[in-house]
Amino acid sequence: MRQPLLKHTHIVKLGRILDMLYKPSEIADEIGVAQDTVYRSYLPAGLPHVRDDQDNIWIHGPAFVEWAKQTVSRKKSKRVGLTEGHAWCMKCNLAVQLTKPKIKTINRYLELLQAPCPNCGKTINRARARTGGNQ
Ligand SMILES: [Zn+2]
Repeated sequence: MRQPLLKHTHIVKLGRILDMLYKPSEIADEIGVAQDTVYRSYLPAGLPHVRDDQDNIWIHGPAFVEWAKQTVSRKKSKRVGLTEGHAWCMKCNLAVQLTKPKIKTINRYLELLQAPCPNCGKTINRARARTGGNQ
């Protein structure tokens, strides 16, 4: 597996990554790399992501941070606190409460919580890392 292009200057910017789903271009903007780097380097190197019906790639912020830190060093990374039961509505552009979400397994890293947005009714997806024992 090729080592992804992640340098210290990128790692220090991980702190600004929020608990939401990002497009590859947005992740690239946040940490200051080219969008191409995300597609050519990060995704082939195993960055956890989900693909929706329209073939858009979504990257879950905390999963990205964790992956990036593991890639760079074996230091124990402090887990970002996830607000349980909340998800980001892309339409309303705010975090909303998930009521009775359906759990859909994506891969061995990610699972998706799906529930309708209480504000607009659109189905929202909350990806979360599948880690044993994490509450
Ligand atoms: Zn909404």
